[in-house]
Amino acid sequence: MKWFFESDALYFDNGRVVDSARGEIGTTLRIARGRIDGVNVAPPRADVRFDLDGAIVMPAFINAHDHLELNNFPRWKHRPCYANAREWAMEMNARLDSDAEIVAARTVPLADRLFIGGLKNLLSGATTVAHHNPFHAPLRSKHFPVRVVSRYGWSHSLYLSPDFARAYRSTPRNAPYMIHLAEGTDADAQNELARLDDAGALGDNTVLIHGVGLTETQRALAIQKRAALAWCPSSNFFLLNETARVREFSDAHLLAVGSDSRLTGDGDLLDELRVARETKQISQDALLRAVTCDAANILRVRNVGIIERGVRADLVILPNTFGSAADALGNLARADLRAVILDGTVRVADLDFAPLLPDAVRVNLDGREKILARDLAKRYARNSIRETGVELL
Ligand SMILES: [Zn+2]
Repeated sequence: MKWFFESDALYFDNGRVVDSARGEIGTTLRIARGRIDGVNVAPPRADVRFDLDGAIVMPAFINAHDHLELNNFPRWKHRPCYANAREWAMEMNARLDSDAEIVAARTVPLADRLFIGGLKNLLSGATTVAHHNPFHAPLRSKHFPVRVVSRYGWSHSLYLSPDFARAYRSTPRNAPYMIHLAEGTDADAQNELARLDDAGALGDNTVLIHGVGLTETQRALAIQKRAALAWCPSSNFFLLNETARVREFSDAHLLAVGSDSRLTGDGDLLDELRVARETKQISQDALLRAVTCDAANILRVRNVGIIERGVRADLVILPNTFGSAADALGNLARADLRAVILDGTVRVADLDFAPLLPDAVRVNLDGREKILARDLAKRYARNSIRETGVELL
């Protein structure tokens, strides 16, 4: 298969190529040197060709909020419902050294925990992830399972980050500044946006995580300032039994979706899309934009999330059983994805993609046999913790 790597070009034939903003735009897609080279272009003779048999090929998803090192933790709460995530955070902090499950999760080496967070995202078709916490060294590795947004500023929240205004000021204006905000349904949550704005930290690069407690007037103010919302509905319902009102953000192309970590989130981005769909707040087309092109703009990652010549070939391939990409959102489990492609290379896929990944390793993913790129399989084999549902064969 040496010739494949020499030409480094791949030609998908007989598919449905979907761009989130423009809809179905063609039937063939050519990838060269890790980038999208063209749609509906003629294949040079040397290309490796793959018949998609009507499958949908579209931009891979973008997860706008996760804590990658916290995905080996149990979903955790000590009350049925909180009025404000601050109460949850205080309870968690008080039990960090006493709750046996939390202690066990914390003792796992950071690099192993991060790897599981990256793998979780890759398997769900999310190849670009906004990580909320320091940019730990293992995230820089070119073998990390996904692309992690590396230019960002962040604060945890107004209540845990008294220096949030300084953190905002030190974030370049062309990088996102992310903060958990209005993660509650009480008066405190409703006061947070004004505090952020008074401190000069509500700008066009501000990404409000959660925003459950935002009033209509506050949503209008945030949108007027071109601040965006990262919506994490399953985490919100788990903690607060309520979620954000997202329609206005979506209409302004200022809505992204995040899985949050499994400490509070349901699982992965596909789970989040299911819960998002159930709220019936926005159309499926709008939801599609929120996990692709709109998220890319919000997170200032310009070369992913669209199908255009020259952008990175980060793609997912969905089964041909779906009428459209929008239809599929909320109805997809990770084992349903035909293939996940990062920088033009197949990373995990159904068995029939094996000719595109000759040294792949077979894995069982949630009861279905798949192939996984060899470097990922090797890294997974030596990881000290497992991802539930993933077993090397
Ligand atoms: Zn969070």
